[in-house]
Amino acid sequence: MLLTITTTYSPATDLGFLLHKHPDRLHTFSLAYGQAHVFYPEAHADRCTAALLLEIDSVGLVRKNRGQFRDSFALAEYVNDRPYVASSFMSVAIAKVFRNSLSGKSKERPELADTPIPLTAKLSTLPCRGGEKYLRRLFEPLGYSVRTERHGLDTQNPDWGDSRYFSVTLESTLRLSELLTHLYVLIPVLDDEKHYWVDEAEIRKLLKHGEEWLPDHPEQETIVNRYLKHQRRLTRQALTQLRDEEIEEVEEQTHEGEAEIEQRIGLNEIRLKQAAEVIKQSGAKRVLDLGCGEGKLLRKLMREKQFEEIVGMDVSHQTLIIAQQRLRYDRMPEKQKERLKLMQGSLCYRDKRLAGYDAAAVIEVIEHLDAPRLAAFERVLFEFASPEMVVLTTPNVEYNVKFENLPEGKFRHRDHRFEWTRAEFQSWASDVSKRFGYDVAFHPIGDTDEIVGSPTQMAVFKRESHG
Ligand code: SAH
Repeated sequence: MLLTITTTYSPATDLGFLLHKHPDRLHTFSLAYGQAHVFYPEAHADRCTAALLLEIDSVGLVRKNRGQFRDSFALAEYVNDRPYVASSFMSVAIAKVFRNSLSGKSKERPELADTPIPLTAKLSTLPCRGGEKYLRRLFEPLGYSVRTERHGLDTQNPDWGDSRYFSVTLESTLRLSELLTHLYVLIPVLDDEKHYWVDEAEIRKLLKHGEEWLPDHPEQETIVNRYLKHQRRLTRQALTQLRDEEIEEVEEQTHEGEAEIEQRIGLNEIRLKQAAEVIKQSGAKRVLDLGCGEGKLLRKLMREKQFEEIVGMDVSHQTLIIAQQRLRYDRMPEKQKERLKLMQGSLCYRDKRLAGYDAAAVIEVIEHLDAPRLAAFERVLFEFASPEMVVLTTPNVEYNVKFENLPEGKFRHRDHRFEWTRAEFQSWASDVSKRFGYDVAFHPIGDTDEIVGSPTQMAVFKRESHG
């Protein structure tokens, strides 16, 4: 079974530093059930591919594993798909062979390990219980574009129909460690089978590798359930650790319904990633997240060492409590705690605490403000707080026709007071930037349709220089 990882980051051969494996050599490792080889089918400055090939020793596997296979068919112990498909063996190999890369470390290129780069992962044969639909529900919310090719059961007998095996290509711009943690957890989830017994230690692994993305994943429950081999007690324990029961109760009040409509395309993740990236590129050190909600953007910002002070503000006290829990504030080291401040406040009232920051994010917030309060918000943000830059997003209402589960004429969330067309948003933002001395640029977020545009629209305001 084969996994390849390709980057077009330049110089692409830096992938060798990220994986701690030199592109010119063949690297071989012994595992309990066979061997793993790492080699580079291509290694050029503009494109580099690393391959992880597993050779499973199926006889050794049976000897070590007597009686573990579910099949009662005795021969199935010897004749099965394990040597040929990506399964929990692949996860074990990733953890062993790419241990440092999995936890985001790189001796030679620490900065690059922290940077989202274009990555493509290909899995030659991936068993998918739940089919392509489930495969997409796992990877698309994480921001991947997913391509699949389904294999027939038997090429000699096409009328036998499809098998549960796919060749899968996943593409996104993200940190290598993110890609590896996603694969580590989700390959065995798709396979829905593990070659070893699971216990509490598995919960720890799951929470560790899923730490950054599992709390927000729409398929959280099925992932946990399958990862822990459907053991109810373990599943329950893991889910409770992931989200306190209290959190579930108040979730209703945040924009969960909206998430449902938009989640098919993983829009929230894409939006927050893009916002974080724009702020990072600006060189900002002290940043505000206004209307921070449950702190998903704060989590991303905290990961970037560049940000020395990060402030999350929201009008809802309850939401801030959830943010605090989700960020595991209580368990944060002192140094991290010092970087983060959560505060309650409204964007419709002048607030001295907001003055003097390098950047502010206002992600999916303005549509929650009553239109008459918008004028107050404009002054609070652009006149009094007056950060060097503002990244602001709001739904593009033109795109709503593309959401099949959204009735015509309805907004994406019941708390939205308005949703704007691109023309309405751009006219508002241009007017605001003129009045308060900013330059503004517009960017689509999410898949862009030729006619109705992108699902989310983003404006980036930069204060005009006085010189
Ligand atoms: N930015 C977050 C949350 C968006 S939901 C994200 O993208 O995930 C909108 C958030 O705005 C809610 O958490 C809501 O409590 C907050 N909000 C609404 N009106 C507000 C106001 N007047 N001042 C501050 N926050 C407000």
